[in-house]
Amino acid sequence: MPHFDIVIIGNSAAGLQAIRTIRRHCRRTTIALIDREDSPAYSRVLTPYFIGGKTGRDNLFIVDGSFYREMGVATFFGQAAAALDPERGEVRLDNGETLHFGSLLLALGSEARPFSPGLKRVSTLRHMADADKLEGLLKPAACVTALGAGLVSVPVLSHLSPDVERHLIVSSGRIFSRLLDAESAAILEEHFTAAGVHLHKRNDIVEVSEGDRLHLTLASGEKLATDALVVGKGVIPNTTLARQAGLIVKDGIVVDEHCRTSYPAIYAAGDAAEGKDFVTGETTVQGNWITAVEQGEVAALNMLGLDRLYEGSMKNNITEVFGIDVAVVGYCSDDAPRTVTHGSGASRRFRKLFLNEKDRIIGAVVIGETNDSGLYYQMVRARSPFPGKQLLHGDNRYGAFMLQIA
Ligand SMILES: Cc1cc2nc3c(=O)[nH]c(=O)nc-3n(C[C@H](O)[C@H](O)[C@H](O)COP(=O)(O)OP(=O)(O)OC[C@H]3O[C@@H](n4cnc5c(N)ncnc54)[C@H](O)[C@@H]3O)c2cc1C
Repeated sequence: MPHFDIVIIGNSAAGLQAIRTIRRHCRRTTIALIDREDSPAYSRVLTPYFIGGKTGRDNLFIVDGSFYREMGVATFFGQAAAALDPERGEVRLDNGETLHFGSLLLALGSEARPFSPGLKRVSTLRHMADADKLEGLLKPAACVTALGAGLVSVPVLSHLSPDVERHLIVSSGRIFSRLLDAESAAILEEHFTAAGVHLHKRNDIVEVSEGDRLHLTLASGEKLATDALVVGKGVIPNTTLARQAGLIVKDGIVVDEHCRTSYPAIYAAGDAAEGKDFVTGETTVQGNWITAVEQGEVAALNMLGLDRLYEGSMKNNITEVFGIDVAVVGYCSDDAPRTVTHGSGASRRFRKLFLNEKDRIIGAVVIGETNDSGLYYQMVRARSPFPGKQLLHGDNRYGAFMLQIA
């Protein structure tokens, strides 16, 4: 049975960062990388651009095959990890092969919540196979409907040609309800409507039938004929392997501040992991690319024996929707003790800071120009006191603010 010092399951944000981190510190550590997808790592974040024809498929790949050779990684692609034995330090693949590990990183990500599987004109979006299906489905479509207003469905609609009729069905009273506050969401909603999107709020699909087109009946009673339906109704962390092996699992695989699971030689990172939120201190599955990278790095350092603490994850999303940039950093909920805003939706430049009871910055929403969103990220991480409203004016004094918080 082959032995590796470190086995990583999951060839994406968390897994790749772990490999890079290990190799920055040590050439000799033996590494195996398992992924059931048989391709070099790609960016899920960019798949909506590919589906909308704004970038080619090749541009989705973050690395090519030579990366793994240069990093000295033994790849087991196209094979799923089927079982885990923590006591023996073994992972069994679905082809029957077993790998022995010193340490293991579960960078398993998550899956899209399924919806009416089997319908040809319906798809979720998580993997390259979904992106390929949607690209084929949406290319000839005159009307596309998305269910759920999150970071999967909205970008897909947004990158379609403006001639396509677009419908967005949202169960809550507003878009991005899990991501940002009501005021910022209202600004974006106005922008979406101006871009021609038909918003169906406080609504759902209660019936679907498929013929030449899809026929949807909404909870409101409205009927909608559409050529394709993209479903983005949340994700489910991949926890089965960990659960079956007896690791502690809540929504995700529970990790401590070293990204270590309840079993000492096993770590978890990214969308599969449930760790501390930097602002609230509660455990959460953060579900964004940067958290996966940060946790992948911390897990790798600890697997190498370099004691490293992770202070917690936070929201950190920068995206472009219907031609407008949006950045969401940290805690951006309506119940923040104090908020400070600058600009407006009409000016296409809006900034909102979220402060705690000690007037420290805990979050920011930036709509329009997002170049300085990294500054807000650093300020939340540094638990910076609010320096005054001029911070939001964008008067090129960010360097001074950075020095202030350094
Ligand atoms: C359409 C879309 C848009 C997004 N937009 C944004 C955005 O704008 N900003 C942002 O921050 N985030 C965004 N995200 C989320 C982001 O992509 C994830 O947070 C990130 O990919 C998490 O990385 P990960 O390494 O934890 O897991 P994943 O990227 O999910 O990768 C996990 C890997 O593990 C493999 N795997 C799982 N189980 C097994 C097994 N048993 N055996 C072998 N292999 C296995 C999977 O095949 C997969 O390759 C988006 C996601 C999607 C789908």
